[in-house]
Amino acid sequence: MPVTLVIHGGAGNIHPGMMTGSQEQQYREGLTAALDKGYAVLRDGGAATDAVIAAITELENNVLFNAGRGSVFTKKGLHEMDAALMDGATLNAGAIAGVRNIKNPIMLAREVVLHSGHVFLSGKGAGEFALSRGIEFAPDDYFFNKDPYDQWVDIRDSDFYQLDHKEDNMKGPIPNTDHKFGTVGAVAFDAKGNLAGGTSTGGMTNKRFGRIGDSPVVGAGTYANNKTCAISCTGHGEYFLRAVVAYDVSCLMEYKGLSLQEACNTVIKDKLVKLGGEGGLIAVDGQGNHDFCFNSAGMYRAMRNDGGREEVAFYGA
Ligand code: ASP
Repeated sequence: MPVTLVIHGGAGNIHPGMMTGSQEQQYREGLTAALDKGYAVLRDGGAATDAVIAAITELENNVLFNAGRGSVFTKKGLHEMDAALMDGATLNAGAIAGVRNIKNPIMLAREVVLHSGHVFLSGKGAGEFALSRGIEFAPDDYFFNKDPYDQWVDIRDSDFYQLDHKEDNMKGPIPNTDHKFGTVGAVAFDAKGNLAGGTSTGGMTNKRFGRIGDSPVVGAGTYANNKTCAISCTGHGEYFLRAVVAYDVSCLMEYKGLSLQEACNTVIKDKLVKLGGEGGLIAVDGQGNHDFCFNSAGMYRAMRNDGGREEVAFYGA
């Protein structure tokens, strides 16, 4: 079987010229390190779920990305993280939302799958469960990073909740053309022919009221089913939730017989655009075919398979 790993580090207004050569190099190294960790699992015959966790853990530990250590600040100056993991072989899934001080939220999502008897835990309860499972916690200063902090300071006194395109609604995203969504995700196809997908995020800067995005919601930001595909999304979560993006791609394949690429294009470049939603996804199907699909200017993305193919890219075509 052609093992394949595909990862992302967020979509958004990522365009040539916005980064220095050394910044580009940092992103390239960060994505490659995550590919190395996840692909080693697949190469050694490991499970797609474990490859997804290995890749995402590496990205969560990298301050460049809005997940784990690099998570953005909420309205109250906190870090509230969301993550989900789904196994395409069993359709088992585990998700957590609004968790604080968890070093690697994707590992907590796996504990939810294995040991909670539930699918989706949130806030304090998820923290209690993490304690009971011996999950690693980290102090607030572990999550302090200057770029996300400055981004938050710029908008914390407003009702804006992210860096995004211009909208009239003052309670919506902030008008700013330099927005990017730095959520991370991974999808994998393993040597046994199983698929898995996972996503992890700090959400959106200045979010409040316990806001939860699409990332931890099974079917919206994350989905995996051996019959069809594994998907991890990134973008403006409110739209991905309403469009049930990840499951919609899977349904188009299952019920209408579309190919992976046709299904991704239909959802991201047609349906989501009509709704006004910006972002993208990574996908892999049950033959090991992959797709990167986005309607934003760019998406931090990378893939490796055992056919010797490797790609790391940021910008649109
Ligand atoms: N989709 C995430 C959210 O809305 C943000 C992102 O992709 O960076 O929480």
